[in-house]
Amino acid sequence: MNWQTQLAQAVTDPAELIQLLELNTDLIAPAQQAAKLFPLRVPRGYIARMRKGDINDPLLRQVLPLGLEMQQTPGYSDDPLGEQAVNPVPGLLHKYQGRVLLTVVGACGINCRYCFRRHFPYEENNPGTQGWNQALAYIAGDASIHEVILSGGDPLVATDQHLDKLVQKLAAIPHIKTLRVHSRMPIVMPERVTDQMIDWLTGYRLRPVLVVHSSHPHELDHSVLTALLRLKQKGITLLNQSVLLRGVNDNLYTLVGLSEALFEGGVLPYYLHLHDKVRGTAHFDVDEATARALIEGMRLRLPGYLVPKLVREVAGEGAKVPA
Ligand SMILES: *Cc1c(COP(=O)(O)O)cnc(C)c1O
Ligand code: SF4
Repeated sequence: MNWQTQLAQAVTDPAELIQLLELNTDLIAPAQQAAKLFPLRVPRGYIARMRKGDINDPLLRQVLPLGLEMQQTPGYSDDPLGEQAVNPVPGLLHKYQGRVLLTVVGACGINCRYCFRRHFPYEENNPGTQGWNQALAYIAGDASIHEVILSGGDPLVATDQHLDKLVQKLAAIPHIKTLRVHSRMPIVMPERVTDQMIDWLTGYRLRPVLVVHSSHPHELDHSVLTALLRLKQKGITLLNQSVLLRGVNDNLYTLVGLSEALFEGGVLPYYLHLHDKVRGTAHFDVDEATARALIEGMRLRLPGYLVPKLVREVAGEGAKVPA
């Protein structure tokens, strides 16, 4: 089955997810409530990696809408990163020196409950009928920009044809050297790694970097590792960023296992993000002292190149801030 069909057949009804995993049907009503705030979306191949009957499954916890999301917590907002202020033209964020981020599509292949973009006004921020002309003109007009990051949503929800056209135009801007893609698709739907994807990533003069988003070693099954190794063999630099999430990966065993599994797929850990204060996600928070102790534990158990940088994003800062 190709990836587009799989996207179309993703589970979006909380009742179906709960029944597929043989969970208590009491979970259905609150899940349906919470899904009204941010819809459920999870590919069937990802559900297949979860344990049946286990409400604490670390993959399930990332996608199951909970009643807890409706709680108001002081200090939590819709736009904690101040992204709406660094959005000079539609579809483009220019927050850090030397690199810009394009929000290629608003949608994702999976909806993660902790997502810092769950309240981002994508509808008002798509490039519109002008296509990418405004964003491309902005990039072409600023020679300090050397790297373009395709993000979203998830940029790999767009078709290869669309992405190829965009990358071709970026490659025509002489000061752009690096093409970076941030995506969770190779993790949640490894079938997305197509020959055409490899073609536009490696077929122009830009240095390709792919940052995948995995937060738990159970996500990295054989099919995912095979897809990642294929990208590695094509000369694509592979990095991973994860989010430190209570009840998902806030223990040393899981974090060490994640780094080791990533390396099996040719991927180096890049960032471990402290969770942002986004409304409806307070139950995922891990306090900073615990986070630092976990990183210290990783440092003592792993080679230096398998220890991610613990960072948080702070609105108005010139880079991600080390914790
Ligand atoms: C995270 C981020 C980047 C990239 O930062 P790196 O530290 O280079 O990974 C660029 N732009 C925006 C808006 C970001 O949030
Ligand atoms: S894939 Fe990334 S952007 Fe999309 S919902 Fe998950 S965390 Fe958010």
